[in-house]
Amino acid sequence: MTNTPVRILMVDDSRIERMKLKGYLGSRGFEIIEATQGEEGVAMFEKERPDLVLMDVNMPVMNGYDAIQRIRKHESSISTPILMLTADNELESIERAFDVGANDFFPKPINFPLLHQRIRYALRDAKRERDLRRVTNLQETARVLAGLAFWELDTATNEIRWSEDSKALFHWVEALPSSFEAAVQIIHEADRQRLVSIVDNALASGDKFEIEVRSPGTKQEYLLKIVGQMDRQQKMFVGAVQDVTSQRRLEQQANYLALHDSITGLPNRKLFNRDLDECLEQLTEKDCLVVGVIEVLRFQQITETYGIDIADQLLVRLATHLKSHAPMNSFIGRLDGGMFAWRIELDHQTPQQQIVLLVNEWFSHLNRPWLLADREIYLTFTVGMSIAPLHSLSSTELMSMANRTQRLQKPTANITLAIYSDDQDDTLQNRLKLESDLRIAVEQKQFFLVYQPQVDLSSDRVVGVEALLRWRHPTGESVPPFRFIPILEELGLINELGDWILEEACRQQVEWQQQGYTLRMGVNLSPAQFEQSDLVSKVQAILKRTAIQSDLLELEITESLAMHNPEATIEVLHRFRHMGCKIAIDDFGIGFSSLEYLLRFPLNTLKIDRAFVKDITRGRSDRAIVRALTSLCHGIGLTTIAEGVETQRQRDYIDALGASEIQGYLISPPVEPEQLLQLVDNYNCSTDNRL
Ligand code: C2E
Ligand code: MG
Ligand code: MG
Repeated sequence: MTNTPVRILMVDDSRIERMKLKGYLGSRGFEIIEATQGEEGVAMFEKERPDLVLMDVNMPVMNGYDAIQRIRKHESSISTPILMLTADNELESIERAFDVGANDFFPKPINFPLLHQRIRYALRDAKRERDLRRVTNLQETARVLAGLAFWELDTATNEIRWSEDSKALFHWVEALPSSFEAAVQIIHEADRQRLVSIVDNALASGDKFEIEVRSPGTKQEYLLKIVGQMDRQQKMFVGAVQDVTSQRRLEQQANYLALHDSITGLPNRKLFNRDLDECLEQLTEKDCLVVGVIEVLRFQQITETYGIDIADQLLVRLATHLKSHAPMNSFIGRLDGGMFAWRIELDHQTPQQQIVLLVNEWFSHLNRPWLLADREIYLTFTVGMSIAPLHSLSSTELMSMANRTQRLQKPTANITLAIYSDDQDDTLQNRLKLESDLRIAVEQKQFFLVYQPQVDLSSDRVVGVEALLRWRHPTGESVPPFRFIPILEELGLINELGDWILEEACRQQVEWQQQGYTLRMGVNLSPAQFEQSDLVSKVQAILKRTAIQSDLLELEITESLAMHNPEATIEVLHRFRHMGCKIAIDDFGIGFSSLEYLLRFPLNTLKIDRAFVKDITRGRSDRAIVRALTSLCHGIGLTTIAEGVETQRQRDYIDALGASEIQGYLISPPVEPEQLLQLVDNYNCSTDNRL
């Protein structure tokens, strides 16, 4: 606190009195302001706002009584202590002094030490009053803010009295109940008995009580919190009542938000797990519980390609679909990303095949085109399940088993699902190791390309090569792509690597070209790569950087990739064609595409899958298919390459069936670039010799 001196306004017409007082009080640390009569005193009060006033009674112009009245009239809630100095110690003048608003009187002639003491008392009282007023104000504000009203129940008369603004506080239109019985009547019927018994109890025991009841309002129910306690001294039951409607609503909302996914409105992981725990606790020997997870593959990529809003919309539609076709007694939640969890309660005797059928039937509804920003795409889902009590009775274990099973699924169709089995855990360990090795591999660029020659059957010359990716594992082993490409895709690492593959293959082609070897370069594109929105511009940039002749680059896409989203594929392929690149459809024949669609794709080459070549010497139907394909392609000007030709007999058949080119171990397995030219020379030379 600051040490500003207490300021006293002294209003007295006697100069001598003023001088004496000033001398005495001034020497005791007070600051004295003087006025010579009432009117001047009032003006001075207004201007200086002293801490205390000493007011003489009889003065010219305006006497002390009038001056006090004027001061009090203009004063706000804070009242400054005023001591009246009365010469006539009569009761009447003392009464009058109090009537006009003086706090105290003091007789003249003045006894200075006594006056000093009175002044100190008056100042202390004024401070107390100010403090009290401040606290009361604060309490009042808090009470209004909290929506609190007070009540008193007179236990003798059974009458209730309410604090002043109670009615306004609760927006009550009718009169407030004046007895306990009447109060009970205005609350919700279902809460009345509870209130009566709790109040009876409290009355009998003298304990505090607290209860929440509903009060039916015109528009909505109010939630009222009532507290009460016996005031033994006053023989009263006193308490407060508070409107907690909005508080409770907010709490409910917060609870809801904490337990539900904000995008789909489905229960979130926390609620799902909680529900699963409850379900497991209540599981009887007559039931079993199937716990599962389903994931939309490449959801991260969908988000990157189409943007977060469209990805969110997709989640909402997926959630709706999952819910509307869900089997009886099921519960669904969203975990994160494109991952949902579910559980179904079934009879304990339900065989596993039937569980698979049931779940398959449910998810078959997801097997349909999904419209994403004007594009229709098919989504791929993998599902893992575990069963309680068969596999475990712990929710954590069941979820983890379902998760592990789901992660191990290699998508072979739009929806691939499996139930947990004990022996899969070793596989998972290997898989996790592979994942971490792959991350390092990408970082340390442990990849390289090998090239496999393609021979034109009519000229019997090597006319092209296919670039194939290899991973040189730190153990020295060269890992084949089928073991790691799908994982790179899932980990979202394929795009970076894909860019490198394309650029490296183009660079290699140009290098060979400069050495006098014109070889068409086939490069495989992965599904994830194909979905990148900037793929076309990336390829364009690579063509430019490497200066490859664009018609010597052949981009290979698999049949299943092409059919995943045919309309979008056609659009992208046209843009490649426009740049002059060639396009091959890879592994053709195993995806059962419609030929009609095939003809709509801007293709140059069709690569007949090895599956047809393998048994070509034995299988009539394979021969018939290859025959049909080659003549169709021939008719529309497509080159056909038979993949996986391993024997001379296979080659002879393929040749007879009209394929344009072959690729396979018969010519050569894929080789490192240093060996390739030698290989081409040897091959071409040997055929020259044969001629
Ligand atoms: P693909 O594009 O159909 O490649 C042909 C695969 O058949 C290659 O397997 C090749 O080594 C193998 N092959 C060739 N001739 C014969 C033969 O006579 N007999 C047998 N049994 N196999 C033969 P690879 O290199 O293991 O590649 C497998 C698949 O991995 C490729 O199939 C392709 O889909 C993918 N792949 C390979 N490299 C890349 C790449 O750089 N990028 C992408 N996205 N995918 C790649
Ligand atoms: Mg290929
Ligand atoms: Mg192939």
